Amino acid sequence: MTIREILKMGDPRLLRIAQPVEVFDTPELHALIGDMFETMHSVNGAGLAAPQIGVGLQLVIFGFRQNQRYPDAPPVPETVLINPTLTPLGDAEEEDWEGCLSVPGLRGVVPRFARIRYVGFDAEGVVIDREAEGFHARVVQHECDHLIGKLYPMRVRDFSRFGYTSVLFPELDPADDD
Ligand code: ZN
Repeated sequence: MTIREILKMGDPRLLRIAQPVEVFDTPELHALIGDMFETMHSVNGAGLAAPQIGVGLQLVIFGFRQNQRYPDAPPVPETVLINPTLTPLGDAEEEDWEGCLSVPGLRGVVPRFARIRYVGFDAEGVVIDREAEGFHARVVQHECDHLIGKLYPMRVRDFSRFGYTSVLFPELDPADDD
């Protein structure tokens, strides 16, 4: 497995619409997913989308037991989600702080649907069909946004709640300042 370079905001590859994965359970797909987990874990990420390493496929990973970048977040099951479809369950929104490995050093308050259903496939092509709420729902919405070329700053409505992680959250380890 290899730690891959994470593209940063401004790179046009982060703005593309990702293409569906058409063949599952291949060595290439498993190798890509292995690289993504190694890359995500190397920077204590909560999730990572394939476009963030320059791969324009509808593939995201997320999940953790305890996350240093979001110490108050409850556990989220470690998941490989391919060709996802998201459906809001109700109109209710929640606001909370988000960061992004492609937008290092910054955090902003982003409104997200409070409850969602997400459907997709795992690496073997087995259907995943879940309902999620809270931080779990937030992570899935954030990661799936990467598949349609959206970065969280594009979702920020109130830029008075957008700033440097080191200023907003000085208690966080600067090594996780991304
Ligand atoms: Zn992100």
